[in-house]
Amino acid sequence: MTSINNKNNGDAKNRGEKNRIDWNSIEEKWRDRWEEQRIFQADPDFARKKYFITVAYPYPNSPQHIGHGRTYTLADVHARYMRMKGYNVLFPMGFHYTGTPILAMSRRVAARDKDLLETFEKIYHVPKDVYTSFVDPLKIARYFHNEIRLGMKELGFSIDWRREFSTVDIIYSKFISWQFRTLRKKGLIVQGSHPVGWCPNDQNPVSQHDTIGDVEPAFNEYTLIKFRISDGYIIPTATLRPETVYGATNLWVNPNIEYVKIYLRDKDERWIVSKEAAIKLEFLDHKVTIESYVLGKEIVGTLAKNPITHVWLPLYPASFVQADSGTGFVMSVPAHAPYDYQALEDLKNNDSIQKEFGLKFIEVKPITVIESDGYSGIDVIPSKQIINKLNIQDQTDPEIEKATNELYSHEFYKGKMLQNTGKYSGMPVSEAKDKVKSEILMSGDADTMFELINKPVNCRCGTQCVVKLLNDQWFLNYGNTKWKYLAHECVNNMEIVPEEIRQEFNYVIDWLRERACARKTGLGTKLPWDQDWIIESLSDSTIYMIYYILAKYVNDKSIIDPDNLKDSVFDYIFLGRGNLVQVASECNISTALLEQIREEFSYFYPVDSRHSGRDLVPNHLSFFIFSHVAIFDRKNWPKQIVVNGSVLMEGKKMSKSLGNIIPLRDAIKEHTADAIRLAMLISAELLQDAVFSFDTVKGIRSKLQDIYDMGKESSTNSSQLQIKSAKIIEELEDRWLLSRLQRSIADTTVSMDKLRVREAAHNILYSLDHDLQWFEKRAKAKNRESSSVQYTLFTFLNTRIRMLAPFAPFLSEEVWEKIDNSSTSIIFASWPTADEDKIDIIAEESEQLIMNLIFDLQKIVKVTRIDPKKIIFYVAARWKLKVYNKILSSVFLESKSNFGDIMKQLIKDPETTKAKNDPNLVRKMIEDILSDPIETRNRRLLLENFDERLPIEDARNLLSLESGTEHAEILVYLEDDTDQSKHDLKSKGKFARPFKPAIYLIDQ
Ligand SMILES: [Zn+2]
Repeated sequence: MTSINNKNNGDAKNRGEKNRIDWNSIEEKWRDRWEEQRIFQADPDFARKKYFITVAYPYPNSPQHIGHGRTYTLADVHARYMRMKGYNVLFPMGFHYTGTPILAMSRRVAARDKDLLETFEKIYHVPKDVYTSFVDPLKIARYFHNEIRLGMKELGFSIDWRREFSTVDIIYSKFISWQFRTLRKKGLIVQGSHPVGWCPNDQNPVSQHDTIGDVEPAFNEYTLIKFRISDGYIIPTATLRPETVYGATNLWVNPNIEYVKIYLRDKDERWIVSKEAAIKLEFLDHKVTIESYVLGKEIVGTLAKNPITHVWLPLYPASFVQADSGTGFVMSVPAHAPYDYQALEDLKNNDSIQKEFGLKFIEVKPITVIESDGYSGIDVIPSKQIINKLNIQDQTDPEIEKATNELYSHEFYKGKMLQNTGKYSGMPVSEAKDKVKSEILMSGDADTMFELINKPVNCRCGTQCVVKLLNDQWFLNYGNTKWKYLAHECVNNMEIVPEEIRQEFNYVIDWLRERACARKTGLGTKLPWDQDWIIESLSDSTIYMIYYILAKYVNDKSIIDPDNLKDSVFDYIFLGRGNLVQVASECNISTALLEQIREEFSYFYPVDSRHSGRDLVPNHLSFFIFSHVAIFDRKNWPKQIVVNGSVLMEGKKMSKSLGNIIPLRDAIKEHTADAIRLAMLISAELLQDAVFSFDTVKGIRSKLQDIYDMGKESSTNSSQLQIKSAKIIEELEDRWLLSRLQRSIADTTVSMDKLRVREAAHNILYSLDHDLQWFEKRAKAKNRESSSVQYTLFTFLNTRIRMLAPFAPFLSEEVWEKIDNSSTSIIFASWPTADEDKIDIIAEESEQLIMNLIFDLQKIVKVTRIDPKKIIFYVAARWKLKVYNKILSSVFLESKSNFGDIMKQLIKDPETTKAKNDPNLVRKMIEDILSDPIETRNRRLLLENFDERLPIEDARNLLSLESGTEHAEILVYLEDDTDQSKHDLKSKGKFARPFKPAIYLIDQ
């Protein structure tokens, strides 16, 4: 074991050079052994509790890089932790080929796209003869599939590889067809016209997977209110607040943009809109003929008739109106829209613009049509109030956006329509909004328009996406209210980690509506009833976790013949429907096998934990919930979702253009799997962005090296066989280290249970290391024989390595093999549990006292510059400790910190009445207590008869060593000792307070 008297001890560098770890061979050795011993293969074991953990399967169009690694590593750490807690853990992996990106990539290879070929060669290190074959999309998928699998093995992921599959496998396609037929039977797949995000170039719907930067196109439904001008043309304005049409005072037109006069063949109407709007209308299924062009400035001043109030309103110029937003015209409601109010003010104050457009005296007054808390009465102008409140200067002020949102939501939730809105008078705004909208839609005075709200959204092909109204498209009807209800029920009953994401799920479930589930191109499964369509990637990846159960049998090709598989098999296995004998004969499977698969499904399902990045909350993870509640009984609904943030490389976002994408396999080769795993997890808790840095990796490696060395020394020590039966050493620092260890186990277990992995890894790697260093320092200063510390150090290492195992599996196995005499994997050594009996508050208090005294002593030596001959510690008198305890219990237990109250209590009690002679001392003690951490106060409440002299005497050597006073004699007295030979020099002792001995230095 560690040789305490060796001068080099504690110097990691020296030790490292002695025993540099051969990481590569250690990693290889354990990978082989895990595989040989089939340690990660999980089969039903009815005597043990199962834990089914899955992570969103990867898309193999590139090798995995550090950014991908975080989610998978987290899931693996979770899986390994649960195994050590005794669960039968199933952690499988599949590969998602579905969709267009791989197809698009193969086309770019065929076109010899320079950028892409360079990426293959320089960043991904794909051999040339391999990437030239990438004109075949499947070759791309297979190549990176293999790369990713190798990387996962090299990182030590504890995956049951017997269950691997890809989403273009024949039986997977049969399974997806079954899923889709099942959903259709339940009426959840509908055909119709619905808006979708759309790439005009690819002629395909787009979702997050298809866009640059992985943005899900989001759009809103606007009401187009039709204002008519005298020559019959319609000026449509897009609004989210149709109920404010009663307050419209004018329209806004941008004088500097070009508009088009169009004929809508489908409606037999003539409109004026911006050029951009004309294109959008075509995608929304209008038949548009452009008749002529007109500049905005040419129509300023024109009058248009409000279809509801029949008042003629002027078109005024405004620069905030954008060509690509809505129709390029805006209905102006200055009383309720801060932009409109401000633009009107700006116009009134700008003589030159008025002159330019020949606008005479502008008399427009805001018309208030809504009242709400804080904005009551017809004379009040809400937008003016909020503009004044936020001190907005003009229409270019960015604060105006905030004012708009604030007023919008305030009036939506709290507003009521005023008497000038006819039959809507007195109606809540939230209700009037829909009523006004349907009234004007019915009368033909309005239309609807869908518009992207997060534009620009660019397709991976580079084209800007639009909203398209798609006809005869197949949709998953996430707008179905009954379905939404079940999805909410599932979310509200499951564990969401971290908890703050729960509301995001509920929001998404409310917000989701019909979603296109099939495409014209891409890899994947054909829609079973309409072979022109291919099921898209976010729709064929929602319940595949159940497929892992089947994949084990599918992969054993001798058992299941794909040609014979019918829906009845899936119904039987996954839903428990149908007759065993009948299904077995129909699909040519033995009844025993069918029953076995069904039992395996019943054993492992539901999913106990689903891991994924946060970007998948609004799509994949929500669809995962929707599909489960649609197809399965409540008992098979998922139990937990774990969401994590992304990874920044040395503080920056990872991107090809920044050149900071590092393929995982390269990083492992250079920096070792264990260090990479820890570095990905130790910088941040779940939702925060993790910052990956190679300095952190290096620091971790040197810590791991220290642990390895400790294991090695432990294993070479001849007496280690007797360690388990060795006599427990009762020195203070041994008791302290073992006590600290118990606290660390308890804390780390809580952290792991909540998946606060940063905290857990920190405890294991850094806090425990800190404790170990203190222990070694104490033992060394006491010149203890190395054999006398063996028991403690062995216990410490044995515990620490088991807690480290989920994070750093390779090193942990290697050390475990050295220190444990069994030949089994550390996975079977259970996660440690804290032993309450080893918590030793006296030892903890003692070591804390020594640490504090070293700090104080160093300060005094530095300030006084004395080279002392004697150092005297005066420990507070017994009665002071009684005073201290009394204060502590009143401050802490009765939460009283009022000096007068405390003093009264002290004086009442004969044991502490002496305090009245020294109010200053009492004051100081109160300060001491209030500045101590809660855990210190807790501990001291439990302490009885603590004698501060013992630790000081015990640490004599260390105290003088650490303060640079090696030649001084250290003396320890009790303040009120009656022995005259220890007389109180210059009355120093009276300054002693409990846990704060007085220190006196004598230099002669
Ligand atoms: Zn495109």
